[in-house]
Amino acid sequence: MQKERTDRPRKRFSQNFLHDKNIINKIVGAIKPLEDNHVIEIGPGQGALTFALLQKLSQIEVIEIDRDLVKMLRESAERKKILVHQTDALKFNFASSYRHKKMRIVGNLPYHISTPLIFHLIKFGEYFDDLHLMVQKEVADRIVSKPNSKIYGRLSVSIQARCTAEKLFDVKPNAFYPKPKVVSSVIKISPKAPLDKTTDAQLNQILILAFNQRRKKISNSLKESFTVDEIKKLGIDPKSRPENLTVDEFLRLSQAGVNQ
Ligand code: SAM
Repeated sequence: MQKERTDRPRKRFSQNFLHDKNIINKIVGAIKPLEDNHVIEIGPGQGALTFALLQKLSQIEVIEIDRDLVKMLRESAERKKILVHQTDALKFNFASSYRHKKMRIVGNLPYHISTPLIFHLIKFGEYFDDLHLMVQKEVADRIVSKPNSKIYGRLSVSIQARCTAEKLFDVKPNAFYPKPKVVSSVIKISPKAPLDKTTDAQLNQILILAFNQRRKKISNSLKESFTVDEIKKLGIDPKSRPENLTVDEFLRLSQAGVNQ
């Protein structure tokens, strides 16, 4: 059997490599890396961002699933400055890389797993200074969206309850090879002080209950956990639907507790 060529982008790993130098410089300019920053890049691919970042950084840690790309990075001229983890970023324990200094995450994320990957990353928020991520524009818009919008949902509240999130700029498909079908966006996420463990777990549960049935009133979807009066006491209209609730209101529900 013929071996798959290492330079052919693999669809199953969402390989859309950046090749537009202006965009690469714009991303590095937004990150503003400082020499001693502890940066972890997710999905370095052929190193478009990695090598540009290494012009400013003394070293970088990367997580790449594709064995052939890992080999290429390990054989590159910059190999001594690159610590490569050949693994699935969805399973990576980011806390294991922590060395007394908050880390910075960067990545042009594999689009087929961008949402679960972001849910995975925010679990480690306390270890991160910031995250600069390229995702599909549609995902970026959901992340920063405000209440009373169709795209405001579990992803928006999960992130905004724990982090500040801003969309920096859009990137057109022709900045990549091969061209993706959709426009991309670079976002910056900065974790806030972590929620306490119970609130954190309760928030996750409430968001699943509420947004799994987005057309139902919250008094209905949360009826196992809260009476109508308990919802009212928190200053929340029990007739609201999940998309009407602010992040702060979801946090109030989480602090009040599930199954109290
Ligand atoms: N950073 C490179 C660039 O901008 O040109 C590549 C970006 S490409 C969109 C996504 C990269 O993530 C690919 O190199 C792919 O092999 C890698 N990847 C895909 N799934 C992954 C996973 N589960 N864990 C780690 N890396 C993954």
